[in-house]
Amino acid sequence: MKRIAIFPGSFDPITKGHESIVKRAAPLFDKIIVAIGVNSSKKGMFDLAKREELIKKTFENVSNVEVMTYSGLTVDFCEQQNANYILRGLRSNADFEYEFTIAQMNKLLKNKIETFFLLTEPEYSAISSTIVKDIHRNGGDVSQFIPAAISLK
Ligand code: ADP
Repeated sequence: MKRIAIFPGSFDPITKGHESIVKRAAPLFDKIIVAIGVNSSKKGMFDLAKREELIKKTFENVSNVEVMTYSGLTVDFCEQQNANYILRGLRSNADFEYEFTIAQMNKLLKNKIETFFLLTEPEYSAISSTIVKDIHRNGGDVSQFIPAAISLK
């Protein structure tokens, strides 16, 4: 059976933190699907097509990474894609508290799906899409926080 992982998130926009998690996990899985959730309560800055374009560009040289959008429960999307793993990144205690609850609930919903965590690289622990958006909105230069392959207009 193929080892397929879903990396779900808002990716509004993708950051170096996300990029690092996916690139470090890529050798461990046959396929990683970066899955942009469309039913998030977070209000988006970049539309879905733009987020998808930026993620595709980021991973254009990583052959086992795909990009998709989804709505509904992440575990249902995993089943549709034959994925047995959910990949998530951890930056802090706050992430842990949040991720712990979601992972435990997902386990209760679909026991066979395992959530797989990677700790962030120390240099990326302060990077979040929210802060990148704030800086960008206010005219600051975010290039050091986003993947080298992309730029935000
Ligand atoms: P969500 O809306 O689900 O929180 P995000 O796009 O903010 O989606 O994040 C998706 C995943 O990437 C989450 O597991 C999050 O913890 C992780 N992540 C976000 N920023 C970083 C970072 N700087 N380093 C490592 N992981 C990160």
